[in-house]
Amino acid sequence: MSEIRYDLIDDEFVIIAPERLRKPDSYKEKEKISIKDCPFCPGNEDLTTKAIFTLGNGSSWKVRVIPNLYKALKIETPLVFSDVGIYEKIEGFGAHEVIIDTPRHLLRMDEFTLEEIYNWLYVIKLRAVDLKNDKRLIDLVFFKNHGKLAGASQSHPHTQLLGLPIISKHNLHILKRAYNYYKEHGRAIFDDIITNELNEDKRVLFTSRSFVAFTPYASGFAFEVMILSKKFNSILDLEHEDLKELSTVFKKVIDALYKELGEFDFNIFFNNPPINPNFETKEFFEDIKDFWRFSIKIAPRIYRLAGFELSTNMKINPVVPERAASLLRKSI
Ligand SMILES: [Zn+2]
Repeated sequence: MSEIRYDLIDDEFVIIAPERLRKPDSYKEKEKISIKDCPFCPGNEDLTTKAIFTLGNGSSWKVRVIPNLYKALKIETPLVFSDVGIYEKIEGFGAHEVIIDTPRHLLRMDEFTLEEIYNWLYVIKLRAVDLKNDKRLIDLVFFKNHGKLAGASQSHPHTQLLGLPIISKHNLHILKRAYNYYKEHGRAIFDDIITNELNEDKRVLFTSRSFVAFTPYASGFAFEVMILSKKFNSILDLEHEDLKELSTVFKKVIDALYKELGEFDFNIFFNNPPINPNFETKEFFEDIKDFWRFSIKIAPRIYRLAGFELSTNMKINPVVPERAASLLRKSI
């Protein structure tokens, strides 16, 4: 049984999840797992639990969503907050799902067709729409781990989603900062960043109608790219045409990264605001649409995080973001 424990010293939550110990690691094998044994490949659907959602029909599905077999959190667990002496904990309530991005085994992300990228983003949006209805869920965290250095244990392309009954203290801090900036300046911090990036034009890879792709000024990872929306608050706001536009933007970025870096491991983060208010966000929840903008961050994992990063929460990035931008621009 998992628990969300609050760390009194670090002021952050920790998910204690013994079930994760049983998780197999396909990268530990000498060879990457074959299609025959891959639980995410078409034809092997009975190796996983029943699908929560499937895009496409029967064995010719395009994207498949399943509960994570080695869940950090469970939706069936009642939401109970309790004190344990001086400590606090929440029973392991939450959603933990795996989105199988494509039926194609070991597909590199620059080999995804535009339609595959669209379907992947579309299903991420649909899961957000569905889970928002569960008012006990406060924040949805979508992320993709690709490759061993990025923490992936399955080599078949997939994305994970954790639906949390809390918002991490780190994300709450960022939200409060964005809210305070908005209160002070009357503008979203993200809009000012876009204006500044376009004026400076040192880190911008390209812009489209609704998005700007750039290497952030203080990138924590070498060749980190942010795709920042000019107007959308969350992936929930993206309609068909917007998702098509985002797919094109994403494909350009990922293709450029592969051209520049060759085979590389990476994480992808989706920066959506919380889906439902709680006691910590209710004061500014209504204003979120004005001060928050949706973004996707691609973080290549070329260098390992180690003691310094873990002890300070600061990162060391050996590649100057302006240099990364100029190299990536040539590959677009
Ligand atoms: Zn597979």
